[in-house]
Parts: sequence; C-alpha cells; structure tokens
Amino acid sequence: MDLETLVELDRSLVWHPYGPMPATQSPLVVESASGVRLRLADGSELVDGMSSWWAAIHGYRHPVLDAAVQDQLGRMSHVMFGGLTHEPAVRLARTLVDITPDPLRHVFFCDSGSVAVEVAIKMCLQYWRSLGRPSKHRLMTWRGGYHGDTFHPMSVTDPEGGMHALWRGILPSQLFAPAPSAAYDASYVASFADLLAEHASTVAAIIVEPVVQGAGGMRFHAPELLRDLRALADEHDVLLIFDEIATGFGRTGSLFAADQAGVTPDVMCVGKALTGGYLSMGATLCVPRVASGISRGETPVLAHGPTFMANPLSSAVANASIDLLLASDWSSSVKRISSGLASGLAPAWDVPGVSDVRVLGAIGVVQLDHEVNVPAATKAAVERGVWLRPFRDLIYTMPPYITDDTDLAAITSAVVAAATAA
Ligand SMILES: *Cc1c(COP(=O)(O)O)cnc(C)c1O
Repeated sequence: MDLETLVELDRSLVWHPYGPMPATQSPLVVESASGVRLRLADGSELVDGMSSWWAAIHGYRHPVLDAAVQDQLGRMSHVMFGGLTHEPAVRLARTLVDITPDPLRHVFFCDSGSVAVEVAIKMCLQYWRSLGRPSKHRLMTWRGGYHGDTFHPMSVTDPEGGMHALWRGILPSQLFAPAPSAAYDASYVASFADLLAEHASTVAAIIVEPVVQGAGGMRFHAPELLRDLRALADEHDVLLIFDEIATGFGRTGSLFAADQAGVTPDVMCVGKALTGGYLSMGATLCVPRVASGISRGETPVLAHGPTFMANPLSSAVANASIDLLLASDWSSSVKRISSGLASGLAPAWDVPGVSDVRVLGAIGVVQLDHEVNVPAATKAAVERGVWLRPFRDLIYTMPPYITDDTDLAAITSAVVAAATAA
C-alpha cells in the first residue's frame, strides 16, 4: 500500500487512542522496530522514549523473545482455557506467584490490563457477597489514579482524567480521597482514615497504583503510605488492591512497587510489561483468603473467562521476558537510567513554563504549567530523533531498560526540547 493511501485510510477508517473520528492529526507510520528504535515509513528512525506505554522493557525484536514466540507458534498459538491447560500458563502462574509478595498465590489470566482490574474488582465484590455482606460493594481510591478504560476501572480513575462528568449516572459512584502528596504526610493519612471509617460498611476494597500514579498524572508518593493503607484496610475489614500494571517488572527500581513498602495487597494486577510488550495479556493475583472466601459463597465460582484467557503465545513470551529480566542486572540498568534521566532532565528547570521535573526509577517527568501543545512537542522530539507521546501538562519518558547512555541523552534532550516547544 502506498504511504498516502495508508495515511488516508487510517484517518478515515481507524480509531486511535483518545481520538476523534475522523482523526485531526496524522500519526507516524512505523514499518518495523528493533532494539530501542522505531523505523518509520520514510526510512528515518526514532529512539523510543515510551517503551510503547511501559510495555517494551527489553526493546523490540529481542532475539530471545522472538525465539520464544516462534517456538510456541510451532506448538500452538491458542487453545481455549475452559477444561484445557498448558505448560506456558502453568509455568507463568508459578513464576508470578514466586516473584510477587507472599502470600499472593492464585492467578487469573486475562487479555488486558483493564480486564485484570475488572477481575480484581469482581473478586473483591464477590468475596463480600460470599461472606453474606453484599452492602460492601463500593471502592475507595484517591484522586489522580488511572486503572483502565472499561467502566468499572474508569469509575476508580481520577474523576477529571476519567471524564466522570460525561458518564454521570452511568459510572458506579466510588469513594475518592484527595490525591496523595509526594512526601509522606501524617495528616493525609488521618483524613484518609476518617473517610474510610465513615464509609467502611459499604466499602469492599481500596484500589490504588502503588508508588507511581501513571496515566492519571505521573505523580509519585512515599511507599510508607502503602503501609498505612494496609493497616487501615485490615482495621476496617476492607480488601486492598494494588494495580501494578504500569509499575510492575522493575520500572520503579524494585521488581514490584509493593516491594518498596514491604506490603502485600490482597489482590494485585499486572499487565503491560508482563509480556515484554510483545502481546496483550494481564493477570490478577489474589491471596488464599480471597479465593477461599469466594469458594464459600452460594455461587462458589468466579464467573469470568475471556476467550483468549492464558493465551499460550502470550504466556510463552511472558515467561521468556520475565526469565530475561531476572537473569539480567535489571536493577543496575534501572539505576543507570534513573541517574541519566535526573541529570539529562535537570536543564528543563530553566525552561519557561516548566513547573516540575521529577524522576523515579526509569521514569522521567517534566510537568508544565499549561496544556502541552502535543503536535509542537512531538515535532520537536522527532526532529531530535526521539519518539515521545505527551499528554495533558506532561512530557514524560520511560525508556526500555536496554537504552544505552547515548540514546538516553538523546531522549532527555528531546524531552527538554519538547518542553521548550510546547
Ligand atoms: C495501562 C493501565 C491499565 C489498563 O491496561 P490496558 O492494558 O490498557 O487495558 C490499568 N491500570 C494501570 C495502572 C495502567 O497503567
């Protein structure tokens, strides 16, 4: 297909994320990708500063991951999971149980992050129904979060970012505490505790993204706060869900963000980097108490079963990606990227309109005091050979862990240039 036709058909036929139909801006056409580079249709290359939305931690066309997919392709791409099972899924479950905090011990596989959150919520609501307390059906969270785009995840996403005004009367109404501050604040905990105490009889679970709030605003908070949430949840007979879909697999500097607090949630969601960014997959883990609670109910089954549940190709590449991560010195890579981001993004403080510059693990954020002019910021980055995708007032990067120092310097100077142009 010639490039002009492709772009025109894309514009008129294909919906893109958070976009209008027909599209008002033309996306770049990617022909292939390898290592940390995206190769565009015009032959130029861009260093990927986004890891394809947190996912491609090992970069593209990694020989080990390619081989894992090819090997599995030679056996079977997919079989249903009802009544059947296979080694890739069982191995993956064992690995996830091994590497996540104890006692998360049971795994529900699904096909995306949003569905993993749906399943987490269903588990918690059903747990209380099974125990004869159906009035515990609401969720508590804090503002500034993001948990996916299907309706229940959207209901616990930040009310503004999740466009709750548009869905008034449709979205279930959840309980929101203010967004957590960056530094630990005992008075914040006290007000969170008050709100929970007031509503505990109707709250099934607290759901948060631990340590980093991603697509809701790229904000960081003190890990100690998670210990308070754990204690408050226990005190008030409420379950605790950690959504580690963005933070999982090393991104924040620990394998899971929960590790930084030494806290185990009752339910935990993973996705995004789970398959190294190769294929869509999510998983929801829970502790035995949740599973056995559900089993004691009048309806002792978890009524959920996606068609592509535990897809063998996804499972195989997830196994390969996790093995690759654990065999590598990922912690040093994340530290190296972290210090490269800190030094490379520091000049952004001098850019007019920049209100904050922050780095945590392999995540770098430049926040403006105004909405980003996305086309201008994108153009400035692309001119420097870098792919960035800003949103709202944020220009941010979370590079693949294999990004070397030269490419990292290109990324940070592109972020600064984008902030200048935006
Ligand atoms: C991306 C994301 C989701 C949704 O995952 P999808 O695979 O896009 O459905 C949920 N929670 C968090 C924290 C995320 O970053």
